[in-house]
Amino acid sequence: MKRIYVMGATGSIGQQTLDVLRSYPDQFQLKAFSFATNLEAARSIVEEFKPAAVVVEDVGLAEALLTDYPNLVHYKTLDAYAAEGEYDVMVNAVMGSVGLAATMAAIQAEKEIALANKETLVMAGDFVMAAAREKGITLLPVDSEHSAIFQTMQGLKREDVKKLVLTASGGSFRDKSRADLEGVTVEEALAHPNWTMGAKITIDSSTMVNKGLEVIEAHHLFGWDYDQIEVIQHRESILHSMVELQDGAFLAQLGPSDMREPIQFALTYPYHRPISHPKPFDLAEIGSLHFEKMDMDRFPMLALAFEVGRRGGSFPAVYNAANEVAVAAFLKGQITYLDIESLIQRAVDEHQEVQSLDLDRIFEIDRLTRKKVRGWLPL
Ligand code: NDP
Ligand code: MG
Repeated sequence: MKRIYVMGATGSIGQQTLDVLRSYPDQFQLKAFSFATNLEAARSIVEEFKPAAVVVEDVGLAEALLTDYPNLVHYKTLDAYAAEGEYDVMVNAVMGSVGLAATMAAIQAEKEIALANKETLVMAGDFVMAAAREKGITLLPVDSEHSAIFQTMQGLKREDVKKLVLTASGGSFRDKSRADLEGVTVEEALAHPNWTMGAKITIDSSTMVNKGLEVIEAHHLFGWDYDQIEVIQHRESILHSMVELQDGAFLAQLGPSDMREPIQFALTYPYHRPISHPKPFDLAEIGSLHFEKMDMDRFPMLALAFEVGRRGGSFPAVYNAANEVAVAAFLKGQITYLDIESLIQRAVDEHQEVQSLDLDRIFEIDRLTRKKVRGWLPL
């Protein structure tokens, strides 16, 4: 029986993780979970799974929950439970940079980690991966592209692989030109053609920042140079990613657009266990799959991600922080869609490389970049 700590249990990945736990009650036990705002969802998690601990920063929300469930132990921060909790596997499914400190704490505590929170690796991939190596921990990818690559690499020799190829659906505005993007609304941006996901990642998919973050995530997770990572557009989201071998063959992983598969594989690794689907996956019904070259002029944030990735150091953290502030502002209606790109570009352009970087400096750069970009928002 694996005891699981689900961070971000009320979110899109969190809820699908709970689905996996629900399917295998003899193998997984929800030991603790975190949430930020959604008290109703938190209540139903406690009712159903009877976890021992809850992690929530807001004291009022914690009190509301503990009044009804006095046996629950409350932790205020994600990293406190990550460090001290009695669990075996952390599923990091929080949104944004808040996931980093807890990931580091779980590594230090030598826990298994299933990582959905890509921002963790984008901000501090060098430090996270070095710590994981030191403790002998494999970070198990939950992101579908990285899970696909992880799956195709099972049993392969590293030197036989020439390239990693990530696929991108293109997001909600893939058929719009840049001129068409003037004045698009939040609702339009949130309508992803293939996946139902949290709001931030849905916007990130449309700006291609998500794929940019994933390129940096792949660089750290698998230890490949940026020259060996490629992105192609694949509108059906059926082929989740692939590797090109030295002899010109490609190995790919395909399946339905269902995040339970990569989540479950991270939890049952190295075994593939059944998942019940409402209807069977039928390639014949899908009929055809399409692949197109990525247009870097149409999606400048993908080009910028390769650039900040190659520059390394503190640049990816700046790209990430600026994006988080910009997307939150767009979702609140404070800025236009195209302002998201301009704010990220400006933050990166104005950033001065930081010498002797360490984890504390990264947290500081994250904080300072947020403050700076907030200062650029209209009042
Ligand atoms: P959601 O927005 O649906 O969920 C985010 C979760 O994090 C919620 O439980 C939320 O709590 C919690 N949360 C939000 N802000 C904070 C905070 N400041 N402190 C603590 N907890 C917080 O996100 P997703 O599930 O879509 O994404 C989660 C991560 O997984 C992201 O890094 C994303 O990039 C990655 N990912 C997501 C995929 C998807 O299909 N959704 C696919 C691949 C990767 P509450 O709801 O209570 O406010
Ligand atoms: Mg992905």
